[in-house]
Amino acid sequence: MLTFDHYLTPATLDDAFDALDGVPGARIVAGATDLLPWARDGRAGDVHLSALVDVSRIAELRGVSLAHGRIRMGAATLISAFQNDPLLQKQAPVLGCCAVWFADDQIREQATVGGNLVNASPAGDSQPALLTMNTHVTLARRENGRILERTLPLSEFIVGPGQTLRQPHEIMTRLELDALPGYGAAFEKVGHRRSMVISTVCLAALVKLDGTKRRIEDVRIAIGAVGPVPERLDDVEDFLTGQMPASGSLRDAAEMAVSRVRSRSRQAYRREVLVNFVERALISAFAHAGLAIQRLPKESGHV
Ligand SMILES: Cc1cc2nc3c(=O)[nH]c(=O)nc-3n(C[C@H](O)[C@H](O)[C@H](O)COP(=O)(O)OP(=O)(O)OC[C@H]3O[C@@H](n4cnc5c(N)ncnc54)[C@H](O)[C@@H]3O)c2cc1C
Repeated sequence: MLTFDHYLTPATLDDAFDALDGVPGARIVAGATDLLPWARDGRAGDVHLSALVDVSRIAELRGVSLAHGRIRMGAATLISAFQNDPLLQKQAPVLGCCAVWFADDQIREQATVGGNLVNASPAGDSQPALLTMNTHVTLARRENGRILERTLPLSEFIVGPGQTLRQPHEIMTRLELDALPGYGAAFEKVGHRRSMVISTVCLAALVKLDGTKRRIEDVRIAIGAVGPVPERLDDVEDFLTGQMPASGSLRDAAEMAVSRVRSRSRQAYRREVLVNFVERALISAFAHAGLAIQRLPKESGHV
């Protein structure tokens, strides 16, 4: 069970740092959808905290805007905004595809994107989608009364299961990511059961066709849950960029991904799923971009 002496709801970053500095042992919370199960389901035993500092009402951590081709998203943005926010619907369609697979309506209305990244579960679903959008995260700290920020790529922020480069008392304030209107997007996920599932493999794909609609101008693929950290499939992206998309090259690209499975459990299963997901996600993303590609039969040989 989770118990605490104080539940503090600062309205500004300064108030939040006052709360964190003023109560030793205070812990940041946003939607509590990771924190509560961690304590309540016995994973951490009974946990008593001096204070919970709820950062979800801080203005600097909220809101979504667009400037110079990059989206700025507060860290306390709800996962439900991935589906409902008009700017994200247009500029970041892969986030909407990801949210469909994320928990259920109730959790999506509570869970924040910052909480998903700081928690850094290998099964965190927002991570591959955000990686395809070249996301940077900004962390704020207070030193000598001044609020200082540092910004780093998401690809460097998560360093292992449950581990990030965030220092104690640093608050994640915002994310910045490429705006990608007109890209075809897809998200794939599988787990141990059909609903409310923890990912065994998840994958995000984005594709852009050139002006002739015949060649791949840009392709971005990221995977999660198959290794300690989410990652982009750079080699697969390089292989496909500039090609005319075709069933055979998508199958070849998918097979390149097999070596990325590093999880110790269910390796053969994860490999098979990953190869299928890369191919299926690319076909879905091209369909979303307006190009229908037939999937090769499973055992088909091709040159
Ligand atoms: C039933 C259920 C289903 C779920 N399904 C999914 C799913 O399908 N996919 C998925 O990825 N996850 C899922 N989750 C996990 C969870 O909902 C997400 O990880 C969520 O995004 C966490 O956000 P939160 O705001 O609730 O984080 P919290 O629980 O409030 O916090 C998580 C951690 O992040 C820290 N933190 C939060 N915000 C900040 C900040 N701004 N700065 C610094 N530190 C911060 C907290 O101190 C804590 O350590 C599920 C959870 C439940 C209970």
